[in-house]
Amino acid sequence: DEAYLYRPLLEIVRVPAVGQLVEHVLKEHSSREETLEFGGQERSLRILARPMPLGEERFGVLITVRDETLIKRIESVRRDFVANASHELKTPLAAIRAYAETLQLGALDDREAAERFVGNIVTQADRINGLVQGMLQLSRVQSGSALKIESFDAREAVEPCVAAAGAMARSKGVKVQAEMPAEPMVIRSDRDGFQTIASNLLSNAVRYTEDGGTVSVLLSSEADWCVFQVQDTGVGIQEKDLERIFERFYRAEKDRSTDTGGTGLGLSIVKHLVQGLGGGVTATSEPGRGSCFEVRLPRFGS
Ligand code: ADP
Repeated sequence: DEAYLYRPLLEIVRVPAVGQLVEHVLKEHSSREETLEFGGQERSLRILARPMPLGEERFGVLITVRDETLIKRIESVRRDFVANASHELKTPLAAIRAYAETLQLGALDDREAAERFVGNIVTQADRINGLVQGMLQLSRVQSGSALKIESFDAREAVEPCVAAAGAMARSKGVKVQAEMPAEPMVIRSDRDGFQTIASNLLSNAVRYTEDGGTVSVLLSSEADWCVFQVQDTGVGIQEKDLERIFERFYRAEKDRSTDTGGTGLGLSIVKHLVQGLGGGVTATSEPGRGSCFEVRLPRFGS
């Protein structure tokens, strides 16, 4: 830009580190690279300064600036994921090891205790399996390649999910009721994905609702949208957790979630699937009284 021509560098780029970089290159006639962080780690710029011959014995400096903020952020998300996943896997693994060691140290001879310990080992191995399956599913969903768009009846797709939740609910004294449209409701979407969304929300609703509670499912259409709602009269979600429950591994009540077989991945899978299908998901709740999850998907594909 004309306005910048022939003016001292530091008047234009008010970053002393860039001035030092240029001075160094002019003095040494060799390239130099540096990453500069601005605003904490909000912006990360990779600066490459190279000597540029400008005729006999005269040198200029060519500066290339690359914005690496996004790459840095992705790297940090990935690091967090690995740290969280390892942490989640460590607990059941440590339990398996402890039970196995106790068996090795003599509990094998106590038939009753041995059976209990082996049962616990199986439970913990199931938990690890659940985590690994959840992570694989999440990675498939995030890559977006798993989606297969076809026409199907949403009512028919939801029914087996409601039936499965009903069976799980009965064993803990929770009622599941469903309100479906009277006619078939054809939508163009990914059937498996749709069923995963329904199953995850239903299984949460049942798991977080106590004896005597009710889970209500509502399937309806609004203009070109398919609306799927799961409402429960369960423990509810605090306001501070509400905005975070869709994050991977986030659990409002860690103990309760683990006791009921939770992995902290179910809602994250729901969110990515819904987004991949061009829709949206929202959660509302009154702590202690219940929660409501609403999914909206375009009826005619995206
Ligand atoms: P989890 O496997 O722990 O249930 P999710 O990703 O499905 O993981 O849910 C994340 C967290 O959101 C849960 O740990 C729980 O605290 C909260 N949650 C999800 N659904 C409900 C619900 N219907 N009622 C109360 N809390 C819920």
